Amino acid sequence: MIIESRELRLKHRIPVVKTEKFWKGLEGGRVYKTICKCGRSYYPPRADCICGNQTEWVEITGKGVVECFTVVYSMPSGYEWSKPYRIVVARFGDVRVMGWSEEDVFVGDEVSLYTAKDGSGIWKIWFRKG
Ligand SMILES: [Zn+2]
Repeated sequence: MIIESRELRLKHRIPVVKTEKFWKGLEGGRVYKTICKCGRSYYPPRADCICGNQTEWVEITGKGVVECFTVVYSMPSGYEWSKPYRIVVARFGDVRVMGWSEEDVFVGDEVSLYTAKDGSGIWKIWFRKG
C-alpha cells in the first residue's frame, strides 16, 4: 500500500549580510573561511568569533584530503538533472569543507576545490582529484 502526499517544495530566504563575501566568492571561484586573532578558524565562515572579536576572511587554497564521502544515486526533488554524485568532506588545513564531486574520490585522496553552478543554476563547491 502506498499513500500519496502532495509535493512539497521549499525555498529558503536566508539573510547573508554578514556572510556576503562567502557567497560572492563562490561566484568568483573562491572559497573563504574566517579566522580570529584568538586562533580560531571557522568554516562555514562566521563574521563574529565566540571570543567577541570580528574575524578576518581568508581564501581556502591548496590541496585538501578527503575525510569522508557518500554517493547519491537517488536524486532528490529538484536535482533530476544530475547524474550520481558524491558529497565529500575534505580537510584543508584547520577546516573541513563539504562539496560535491563527479569523480570517484575516496578517503585519503588529495583534492582541490573549485566553484561552479550546478544544473539548477546554484553556485556550489566542487572537488576534483589532485
Ligand atoms: Zn576569537
